[in-house]
Amino acid sequence: MLKNYHHRLVIMGSGPAGLSAALYAARAGLHPLIITGVPFGGQLLRTQSIKNWPGIPEISGPDLINNLHAHVAHYPSDFLIDEVINVSLSSEEKKLTLASGTILTTQALIIACGGKPKKLTCPGAENYANRGIYSEVPQDATAYTQKKVVVVGGGNSAITFAAHLLKIGAHVTIIQSLDSLTATDPLTHTVRTHPHATILCHRSVHMVAGTIANVTEITVQHIGTQEYTTLPTEAIFVAIGSGPNTELFKGQLDINTHNRLVIQPGTSLTSMPGIFAAGDICDSRYRHAITSAGQGCMAALDAELYLNGKVVVRFY
Ligand SMILES: Cc1cc2nc3c(=O)[nH]c(=O)nc-3n(C[C@H](O)[C@H](O)[C@H](O)COP(=O)(O)OP(=O)(O)OC[C@H]3O[C@@H](n4cnc5c(N)ncnc54)[C@H](O)[C@@H]3O)c2cc1C
Repeated sequence: MLKNYHHRLVIMGSGPAGLSAALYAARAGLHPLIITGVPFGGQLLRTQSIKNWPGIPEISGPDLINNLHAHVAHYPSDFLIDEVINVSLSSEEKKLTLASGTILTTQALIIACGGKPKKLTCPGAENYANRGIYSEVPQDATAYTQKKVVVVGGGNSAITFAAHLLKIGAHVTIIQSLDSLTATDPLTHTVRTHPHATILCHRSVHMVAGTIANVTEITVQHIGTQEYTTLPTEAIFVAIGSGPNTELFKGQLDINTHNRLVIQPGTSLTSMPGIFAAGDICDSRYRHAITSAGQGCMAALDAELYLNGKVVVRFY
């Protein structure tokens, strides 16, 4: 429950960056308010299998987020399931307007707003969002056992989707726009050699079509020959990358050519005093759960120094 409208430290985001920042800030006695964004948890909600979080051989994204949340909740902190829709960052007291209409002020702000999945933009795609076209594979995907499905993308996320679907017995066609898969995930070999996997490279999605209720087919075009192929499908899972959630900060904070918040290298300091950034919103190079968590820790330590009047590092 939100008790007051002015805070010493607000953290935007409940992915690994935001929750790690929250843990360090709460343990430092800063009593942060975490505005979680909707849904609570960020991009990791999209994966059922994380195998590179140190100390845990395998865990689902939702379980990892639940663990991080439970850990933070041991210490004094407040969570607000809401979204910031407007920011005013120029004065010392930063003002945030939330989707619920609440207006907050804060002395320091950690921005850990991560990214959101890119969507298919071809004809038909808009009609089937969440009715056949999905940006994640559900934990229980058995509805697709023995069914034909399509995964669009060739990176790690796409391969993780494909591996999960193959595991439950689906027949998976992967559509990749480049010449080959770009995934480095060890699952790539399993997917490449699986008898129920078909990999179509150098293809772009031309259109999707179906009934009122669901998608039933996808048409792809060969980028070289321009030839079209139409495939029957029960569902399309899209993993074609993500874009950072920087729109809110345009014109107020420095943003680089990759559309990410600019931070002073080796720190979490943005171009504005008292505002810190962590995770995918400022990192176009690493973009992993553990690097985001590490940057969240850095942001909390920088915010603590700032709030105690001890910032020694200057921007630029
Ligand atoms: C399908 C998939 C599989 C992946 N698998 C792995 C893996 O196995 N291992 C790995 O290390 N990494 C993996 N990643 C990458 C990993 O998910 C990201 O690098 C990581 O989640 C980035 O963390 P973050 O906290 O910076 O941002 P995010 O996880 O994107 O979290 C951002 C948070 O900010 C919130 N937010 C956004 N806008 C606002 C707003 N206006 N107001 C308030 N809150 C807001 C969002 O709701 C969210 O809570 C995967 C990514 C995907 C998409």
